[in-house]
Amino acid sequence: MKYIILLGDGMADHPLEACDGKTAIEAAHTPNMDRIAAMGCSGLFCPIPEGMPAGSDVGNLSMFGYDPRVSFSGRAAIEAANQGISLAEDEVAFRCNLVTLANGVMQDFTSGHITTEEAGAIIETLNETLAHEFPIVFHAGVSYRHTGVIKATAAGTVTGLVETVCEPPHNISDQKYEPYLPNGPAQALLRDLMTASQRVLAEHPVNTARAAAGKPTATSLWPWGQGRALTLTSYQEMFGLTGAVVSAVDLVKGIGVCAGLEPLTVPGATGWIDTNYEGKVAAALAALNRHDFVYLHVEAPDEASHQGDVALKIHAIEAFDARIVAPFLLYLETRPESRILVAPDHFTLISTKTHAGGAAPFAMCGHGVVPDNAVCYGETEAAQTGALIKDGFRLIHRFIGDTPLDIGGNNE
Ligand SMILES: [Zn+2]
Repeated sequence: MKYIILLGDGMADHPLEACDGKTAIEAAHTPNMDRIAAMGCSGLFCPIPEGMPAGSDVGNLSMFGYDPRVSFSGRAAIEAANQGISLAEDEVAFRCNLVTLANGVMQDFTSGHITTEEAGAIIETLNETLAHEFPIVFHAGVSYRHTGVIKATAAGTVTGLVETVCEPPHNISDQKYEPYLPNGPAQALLRDLMTASQRVLAEHPVNTARAAAGKPTATSLWPWGQGRALTLTSYQEMFGLTGAVVSAVDLVKGIGVCAGLEPLTVPGATGWIDTNYEGKVAAALAALNRHDFVYLHVEAPDEASHQGDVALKIHAIEAFDARIVAPFLLYLETRPESRILVAPDHFTLISTKTHAGGAAPFAMCGHGVVPDNAVCYGETEAAQTGALIKDGFRLIHRFIGDTPLDIGGNNE
């Protein structure tokens, strides 16, 4: 049996006035996801356990089948695993965004989707300058997403570093950032680090060139999402499966690495609307020749939601449906011993431009999946099936298995 998970990051939403009371998924033209719901079953699941932050880290851990209440240790530690960075006992990994701060406001948490090449040059400079002043080493990632590993010292113990409250920068778009600066035992160290980065970035040649081209500049580091090394039960042990993960995002590949899955790097996978959809599908289909499980993650619906752009979100969902979901339905026709599951990892609301918890819609079809009455994929239709998986991490345990699924009859 082949198991295929297609994840549209943050595509779930609340009903929108701009869409006549429909959600973005419902307003989008999604014949392929609708077909999955029509052929198989759908329902709601809660990827974010109550009281936990509604992040892609927590949501994707649930989707991969791990209880975030047990496994979660900060997204930066997960991303570090993907980057091949092993964390010592006295080390804490921080996600370090390159952000645009202007007039006291978080103007752009992506620095205008700065390119990986530009950001790489900046991170190199930060290592040359700040690594002498601070107990930190930077590792360059994709676009604006980087990792800083801080060694515990008198200025920041491991516990102090982990316990300091660091706001995810995508939660405070267009807001005054001062109230959201690091707050807690290691705040002095982290705030000094940010100030020092601003000094270095102000005169960096990459920024000079970006400013000249009219693009947003990277004005500061923004540390957040910190955590200690993450350990997960492998897929081999949990399901007796090997598999692969396809994503532009280090966080998602990092969970895969910790789960013993093969992380695939696809050229042109950007984590944005212009991603290499066909390349991602080709990589996943090739992986299915050597593995039984593939997890394909698309970031664009989330990024569009963070911009508060409903038309762009709908476009991202339609691209996901046509260019990611459709080819796997064709695959299912040639390979009936397969199952496909589509879902988001959390809500990302157009209204607030940020993530939210709640029961999100899934749909699955394929070998052994017992059909229900739903005929299209969306929040309203999924709710009407009555199927609700409160412990969202159990969804995949229903999806993977030898016995036919009957989600509707087994609420929990
Ligand atoms: Zn997400």
